[in-house]
Amino acid sequence: MAGSYDLHRDLQSIQAPVIHFDHVSKEYQKGIHAIEDICISIKKGEFVFIVGSSGSGKSTLIRLMLREILPTKGKVFVAGRELSRLRRHQISKYRRSIGVVFQDFRLLKDRNAYENVAFAQRVVEVPPAEIRKNVPRMLSLVGLSEKYKAFPSELSGGEQQRIALARALVNNPVILLADEPTGNLDPKNSWEIMHLLEEVNRRGTTVVVVTHNHEVVDMMQKRVITLRNGRVISDEQKGGYVYAKY
Ligand code: ADP
Ligand code: MG
Repeated sequence: MAGSYDLHRDLQSIQAPVIHFDHVSKEYQKGIHAIEDICISIKKGEFVFIVGSSGSGKSTLIRLMLREILPTKGKVFVAGRELSRLRRHQISKYRRSIGVVFQDFRLLKDRNAYENVAFAQRVVEVPPAEIRKNVPRMLSLVGLSEKYKAFPSELSGGEQQRIALARALVNNPVILLADEPTGNLDPKNSWEIMHLLEEVNRRGTTVVVVTHNHEVVDMMQKRVITLRNGRVISDEQKGGYVYAKY
């Protein structure tokens, strides 16, 4: 498909799942599958956990969704578009229409909290007057209005992750991807981040969370997709963490 990439527009006009993996495999090295024959459909507005032990292929799924990497076999569709068919200029636009949060926060260390969030808006050339409205709104959503001047080194892990979340959300993404967002946080901060993700989802964003956190997964009663050795071994609508059974 030609033209510029507009995920918001595509999602309004297309009935397809927001994320669809059609028999997707990824081999980083020949013969060694990071993921194998994955079929997953995620509908608009869903909240989905992806769980599985280290090396089971979770981050590979996220990287495929972000179109950082391409499948070796199969196709990944987002809002009905096959990601491998996006052109270069469409790829950067596509990525900017998705919010992402990582375990290690990935904030700009030489910029304060306000600037970290504002930066995401400057990249997509939001007018300065809009930025001055949007950034405080986002900092307030994550409960950090009063820390807007603080640099990452002056913030706790939980606070840094909340800034990262504000940055991921400021451009109003249709999809939020979080790869082990609570991996470096204590239980209290983990819950705060999870409740924020739930709130974001209630407002209409499709949320995909990779996590190891058994308590969180068991408590939240969301859809849970479990990976093992690169394959989906369970996909439950209101699941808990799959333990000893496998
Ligand atoms: P998880 O996030 O569940 O820990 P990953 O998706 O990171 O799993 O990795 C799945 C498998 O792919 C692992 O065996 C890992 O070693 C391998 N892998 C991941 N990234 C690369 C890479 N860039 N090059 C080679 N192998 C990789
Ligand atoms: Mg990982």
